Amino acid sequence: MNIKKYLAFQFSIIVAVILLIFSYLVYHNSSLFRHTEFYERLKEKGFTITELLLEESEIDTAFLMTIERNNLNVLHQQRIFIYDENKKLIYRSSADFIEPDKKYLDRVITNKEIEFNEDEAEFAGFEIDHSKGHFYVIIGALDETGIKNVDFLRSLLGIIFILSLIVTGFLGWFFASRALSPMVEVIDEVDQITAKNLHKRVKVRNSKDEIAHLAITFNEMLDRLEGTFIMQKIFVSNASHEFRTPLTVMKGQIEVLLMQNRSEEDYIKTLKSINEDINNLSNLLQGLSELAKANADFPNNNFDEIAVVDLLLDARSELLKNKPNYSIELDIQNFTEDEASSAIMGNLALIKSAITNLMDNACKFSPDMKMIVSVDFSNQLIIRFIDKGIGISDEEMNHIFEPFYRGNDTRNISGHGIGLSLVKRIIELHNGTVTVQSKQGEGTIFTVILPTLSDI
Ligand code: ADP
Repeated sequence: MNIKKYLAFQFSIIVAVILLIFSYLVYHNSSLFRHTEFYERLKEKGFTITELLLEESEIDTAFLMTIERNNLNVLHQQRIFIYDENKKLIYRSSADFIEPDKKYLDRVITNKEIEFNEDEAEFAGFEIDHSKGHFYVIIGALDETGIKNVDFLRSLLGIIFILSLIVTGFLGWFFASRALSPMVEVIDEVDQITAKNLHKRVKVRNSKDEIAHLAITFNEMLDRLEGTFIMQKIFVSNASHEFRTPLTVMKGQIEVLLMQNRSEEDYIKTLKSINEDINNLSNLLQGLSELAKANADFPNNNFDEIAVVDLLLDARSELLKNKPNYSIELDIQNFTEDEASSAIMGNLALIKSAITNLMDNACKFSPDMKMIVSVDFSNQLIIRFIDKGIGISDEEMNHIFEPFYRGNDTRNISGHGIGLSLVKRIIELHNGTVTVQSKQGEGTIFTVILPTLSDI
């Protein structure tokens, strides 16, 4: 069942239940009122006739019957039976009416007052305590008008109920359609958006309702999707380019080598160069696989406690092992013995790779290959990677965290442009931030802020 039908159906059900309760209360109270009022009238008549009968010592019962029949207020098919205390019938309105079963008289005697129905007529039975003795009166009649009125009311309520239900169903359908029509438009528009026209957006109507909110949220999601899609395209084309270039170079070198017989020296020279290219490719693969790892949803429960100073010393010595000509100075400020303030929660392999990348960049983009890692524990954990190298221009600064982006002055410096995008992703995974300040020709400072155990 679609929402439109569901809303119309629910609306009708609610109205139906309210109407049913209302109709039942109206009908029930009216019929109760009729019943009570009719019995009151029966009793009143019973009293009056009995009084008349008992007032006169020698009343002519035939005369009393005439009065009773011709009275303007006589009830339809009114019949009265009056008994003395010996259960002897002393008066009846007419011989046309059958006397009620004796069990009713017994009930009047026991209960003093009763009500019952027989032959479609309604009866009241009661006792009269008179100076002449105890008398028992059973009076009955048909409440034709009252019953007709109540029946009419029932039919009327039934018709009103059915009509209201039909009208409510239509109204429910109409209002649900009207309320949901913008939603249907949004669905139609969304239907037309595919991977081929991801730039299309859903129209946002000039209102602040939920549907406008849905359209805005959907458009925001499309923005993110499109961004990721574009990034992925750039990434794939860059990655294939990065692989293709060294492979083409290697192929060319091998082809040239095979064209004629070469000296041993030539073979060794070419093989060394190919080996270097292979190392380069292997570094690129390593970087890409780390980036993929960092981009995958990384469960936080894989995090361990890591002492920051040990981490920096470790990263430094690992890097120096491969690049012994680098100089990395460690400057520790406001160190605290408190373990919670000097340790972080993180993935050791990833965070070490981010730090090594920043140290490596600082050294390789500085002609003197020197850098300082300054770590400050005062308020929050701030790690600065400071160098006095070539610096980064303002224009380049906007792109350095993009995958495969390399600065203009880096032609003679090895790298593939994925280090910083990896750093950014890893630091974000650890709920930290990485920012950069730089001046071309003067140097660069990368600042990493990470939450310590005491911040979590
Ligand atoms: P790669 O180091 O392989 O070039 P990165 O992603 O690590 O790639 O860095 C991207 C670019 O940012 C570099 O090519 C360079 O232009 C610039 N860059 C990064 N670190 C520094 C630094 N410390 N000094 C100057 N430029 C830097």
